[in-house]
Amino acid sequence: MAEDCIFCKIVTRQSRARIVYEDDLFMAIEDINPQAPVHILVMPKKHIPEIQHITNEDKELMKRWFWVAVKIASDRGLAKTGYRTVINDGVDGGQTVGHIHIHLLSGRKFSWPPG
Ligand code: 5GP
Ligand code: ZN
Repeated sequence: MAEDCIFCKIVTRQSRARIVYEDDLFMAIEDINPQAPVHILVMPKKHIPEIQHITNEDKELMKRWFWVAVKIASDRGLAKTGYRTVINDGVDGGQTVGHIHIHLLSGRKFSWPPG
């Protein structure tokens, strides 16, 4: 838990969010500023600032992180039309919240390359 982290505050219920999934290690919330009809943020409860801070100790957590994202997509039937998963990392990667999260986006067609 990091005192100044908005996602830690959401995980510990000090701040509100629309929670769409929770288990002992993960939480998923609706993005406050959605960029698609479905825009969910999937985060470990553990405060890891950037993916470069992932260590060998987090190996099992990382496997489950993607499993949770895929499970949410599958439970919502998103795989029928497809979806996009995004991790922005660091300043040039466009990361604005320093607590790692997967963006799960769906409900419209996405282009490539990203902006
Ligand atoms: P990043 O820019 O780090 O890849 O993604 C951060 C995401 O968190 C953004 O899409 C932003 O809209 C979302 N976000 C920022 N603050 C909050 C908040 O307080 N609540 C929720 N639900 N989403 C937030
Ligand atoms: Zn945090």
